[in-house]
Amino acid sequence: MANGVIRVLQQLLPPLLLTYFYFAWKIATFELGQIYTFLPSFLIIPTAVLYLRLYFLPPNQSVPPYDPPSSVQNQHIIFQCLPPAEAKVVRLANSEEHDDDDPLVERCYRGICGGRWKPARTRHCSMCGKCRAGWDHHCPIFANCLTAPYMRTYLALLLYTPPTVFLISLPLYRPLLYRACCAYTHSWTDEYIRQNWWDWKFSWVVAGGPIGRYAGGIILGWREKEKHDGGGIFRLNIGLMVFFGIILALISAGLAYATTTLLLKGNLTIDRGRSTAHTQALMAIHKLQLKNRSIPSELEANLAKFSDQRYFFVPLPSTMRSVRQGMVIETLPHERPYDHGWKRNLAIVLGSSWRWILPWNALRMGMHDEVFLWPIEAGVKRRLREEAERRAKEEVGNHRSVCKLD
Ligand SMILES: [Zn+2]
Ligand SMILES: [Zn+2]
Repeated sequence: MANGVIRVLQQLLPPLLLTYFYFAWKIATFELGQIYTFLPSFLIIPTAVLYLRLYFLPPNQSVPPYDPPSSVQNQHIIFQCLPPAEAKVVRLANSEEHDDDDPLVERCYRGICGGRWKPARTRHCSMCGKCRAGWDHHCPIFANCLTAPYMRTYLALLLYTPPTVFLISLPLYRPLLYRACCAYTHSWTDEYIRQNWWDWKFSWVVAGGPIGRYAGGIILGWREKEKHDGGGIFRLNIGLMVFFGIILALISAGLAYATTTLLLKGNLTIDRGRSTAHTQALMAIHKLQLKNRSIPSELEANLAKFSDQRYFFVPLPSTMRSVRQGMVIETLPHERPYDHGWKRNLAIVLGSSWRWILPWNALRMGMHDEVFLWPIEAGVKRRLREEAERRAKEEVGNHRSVCKLD
């Protein structure tokens, strides 16, 4: 989505949602009576608190430290680094005199980052102008970045919203539907509405098409009826509020489903976007190849940019460190270093117990510093280590044979 649209939406959506929460709470508590004296507070307050938590996240949430931790700087652990070719370009640009085999971590020079370390799964948010680790997306609903440590807050909010909306409006659905039917009939019998709305040919267009035309007719009929009987608990405002609630609940349920399916596969929203962009570039190239046409350089650049091939620095065992500390190894095409199987994928982001869903737990961060050094899947880690050792041995072998020839 274009940044301009997000900027407008994030000014509009938070006040709209908070107004909805407030009116829904007020009407359900003071006008529905019986169990609704306490139920709305019990449901709406935790949901609103989760929402406000995401709205008021600290500005530096999930921003990586300027320099990587010493375990990375001293090359003691496996970490994601720049592809050797890219590292070479960076070194040339900085005219650094370093061993070409040394791994280089990725750094970001955009916005206010100014050369900040950009660990694996970190993205630069162009809305916030800074890098965030475990970045999922910048969300206009709460005018903030969503990152992996707050995924449990986000998911809990999405899961709480539909039942909250459903339960607080439960006694209203049937009578409001009946009222809407009466308003529709009334709009046809009322001479003024008939002439000025139903018989007006632009009513098909101004309200946004046929659905808008009928919605407009119902609203006009409803308002007219309200002038006579006052509407009481079934006044138009409440009808619109419940309708807004239903839309909100459906969006929440859809987002909860989409987010959960991503998390189960070890992905974040950005990964899905990148993989779609990669497939599109691949298909466009394939089509051009079939037609024997030349491939534009930007398509090839996209293919490389959205590729999910990653490079890792792998330290060698201490017995092999006489020549060098470690090797840079690339992942194989099928390898997914951040997919640990659905159970552990969920545990890494949300926590190992189901209790993350309880509101007081959902308010707390699900990931801490591990978001800067995202855990690598055990099988991939083993393969990377074996490959590094194999290449190091091969290198020593080659070195010896060269020495013998000398
Ligand atoms: Zn950045
Ligand atoms: Zn952002």
